[in-house]
Amino acid sequence: MILDFVDLLFPKICASCDQALQKNEICFCTNCRIDLPTTQDYSIKENETKKVFYGRIPLENASALLYYEKGGIVQNLLHDLKYRGNQKVGEVLGNWHAELLVENGWKNQFDWVIPVPIHKKRLSERGYNQVDLYADAFAKHINARCVKDLLLRSHKSRTQVFKNRIARSKVTKSDFYLTDNYEDVSQKKILLVDDIITTGATMEACCSELLKLPNVKISIASMALVK
Ligand SMILES: [Zn+2]
Repeated sequence: MILDFVDLLFPKICASCDQALQKNEICFCTNCRIDLPTTQDYSIKENETKKVFYGRIPLENASALLYYEKGGIVQNLLHDLKYRGNQKVGEVLGNWHAELLVENGWKNQFDWVIPVPIHKKRLSERGYNQVDLYADAFAKHINARCVKDLLLRSHKSRTQVFKNRIARSKVTKSDFYLTDNYEDVSQKKILLVDDIITTGATMEACCSELLKLPNVKISIASMALVK
């Protein structure tokens, strides 16, 4: 009853093509789901997602679910997630991605799942971190704890100002910091998650902070990877 009421208020449409969804469809219509360009990298240890970070940060494992192309179906999806309040996209992608990775041995391998944080200002504008539900879904499937108050983003981000790739990555490095909310931070196996990997600079900046934890091991997962 309540759910039907919610459906009336927010008619369910495909996050990709805006067609009305059938009862059994979640987030995307069947056609769009089939068309989504999956990377299939979950069964390859040294995959192209991990290769983005070669020589930059030591990673245990890495995986991205989808390929992102400008003007493509995945850009629509992430736009819905970030700017049109469709948080469900993150949850659906998280469930899907995590299930694939669990089939490839990722269950019970991690202590913490950490979503890449956004700044407070953006959080108050948007009302949510677009990666939170993706992170929650992962934590549930791989049997880890979702930790959202260890790694935070500082106010002084100027990442948008710099177009140059190197300048941007330098600035981003100082944008994250660790809180002292946790006492036992030694030997943690961490899965860091984000919505999209473009240059890898954001993930790299987060990892440089996380690598300050004693004997930490880091893997990453992302909804999408820029092709
Ligand atoms: Zn569709």
